[in-house]
Amino acid sequence: MSAPTQEPQRPPSVDALARSLTRSGLPHPILVDIAREAIEAGDVESALARARAYRRTLLTPVVNATGVLLHTNLGRAPLRHHQEAAAQTVEFDLASGTRGSRQRAVGQLLARLCGAESAMVVNNNAAAVLLVLAALSAGRDVPVSRGESVEIGGSFRVPEVMEQSGARLVDVGTTNRTRLDDYRRAIDAPGVDAAMVLKVHPSNYRVEGFVEETTVRELATLGVPVVADIGSGLIDANCPWLPGAPPAWLAEEPAARQSIADGADLVTFSGDKLLGGPQAGIIAGRRDLVERCMRHPLARAVRPGGLVLAALQETALAYLDKRAVTDVPFWAMVAAPVADLRRRADAIVAAVGDVHPSAAATAMDSLPGAGSAPGITMASYGLELDGDHLGALRAYEPPVIARSRDDRTMLDLRSVAPDDDRVVIGALRAAAAS
Ligand SMILES: *Cc1c(COP(=O)(O)O)cnc(C)c1O
Repeated sequence: MSAPTQEPQRPPSVDALARSLTRSGLPHPILVDIAREAIEAGDVESALARARAYRRTLLTPVVNATGVLLHTNLGRAPLRHHQEAAAQTVEFDLASGTRGSRQRAVGQLLARLCGAESAMVVNNNAAAVLLVLAALSAGRDVPVSRGESVEIGGSFRVPEVMEQSGARLVDVGTTNRTRLDDYRRAIDAPGVDAAMVLKVHPSNYRVEGFVEETTVRELATLGVPVVADIGSGLIDANCPWLPGAPPAWLAEEPAARQSIADGADLVTFSGDKLLGGPQAGIIAGRRDLVERCMRHPLARAVRPGGLVLAALQETALAYLDKRAVTDVPFWAMVAAPVADLRRRADAIVAAVGDVHPSAAATAMDSLPGAGSAPGITMASYGLELDGDHLGALRAYEPPVIARSRDDRTMLDLRSVAPDDDRVVIGALRAAAAS
């Protein structure tokens, strides 16, 4: 009698395994790749987990409970925007029926908002600064304060952008103090051909103590164009779209309207920081200078598409209509009263208390984020609980992104839309079960 031989199990076909993964929601060709990898790894069982892991490498909407309102890793300003699948007058003039400028529609609204003659839109603020320097200063000199020759966020470094533009950086003053006279001497120095002065808002860092900087108003007396890279795009220091006075945390933040009123010939800023719009860079100011930027060959390389222009137009219209506090999600988050956040925190704690007895509503501090107003916080409310649940909260659908410290998990509700509180509850309950 021969011993019974164990029939070796044959691996399933790649195609059959791929089809068994359809519920992951991924398209068939991707599932085929995943199935093949799982079979090659000799781990057929892992195929569904691999598909889920792949799904989570795609762009995924999340609930931002970090309290960092403009979280660069989470796409900065959250934005709701709907666009019909219809042709759009991106470069078409309805009055004449001929080709128009892609910069006109949104440019005129942004100019009106900033109190500028003209404005244009590019892909981001780094591109705005690069284009301004290339169009106005290539082959010429640009004095910049040593205190403003900074690196901002992921690799925007003033000296490097300057070099790419073909303009020559002239260092002025010292790291902590730069006076008007320092600029004047730099401009008048033999062999210097100053095309403009560039003032850069240091954004995400701060020098304190024995410091002195030169204001836009002072720079405007130098007799060369003043370009102010204000960065985060606060439109108006008075925040007329908010019900009350401007929030204290904005006190040090330069604003487009006031910079232009003070004599800046151009300002540049991001669309997705304090403006609360889509990723974009805005150049606003003197018409002749904006037109030189539009005519430069780089303008084509950094121009925005119709999707971004339409979203930015909606954002600009919301400001002009004084609807920004409701219709620009960033400002809705800013304006949420602490008492409302506290009520929401209490409700969430009540809804998860049975599975998270340590959960408690807690006062906390939110950050504007995206390098705006460094070191400055706004009062907020959220909840705190024992244990580090970050991984479990991220594993939820949709994922919830929180913070942890000293084996405590913190969820700040200022950066969470009120409709997402039920997601937070679901994720916390799931985290307790996992
Ligand atoms: C954020 C920032 C930039 C870069 O803007 P992006 O829109 O991220 O390209 C440049 N300058 C300043 C002062 C900034 O704050």
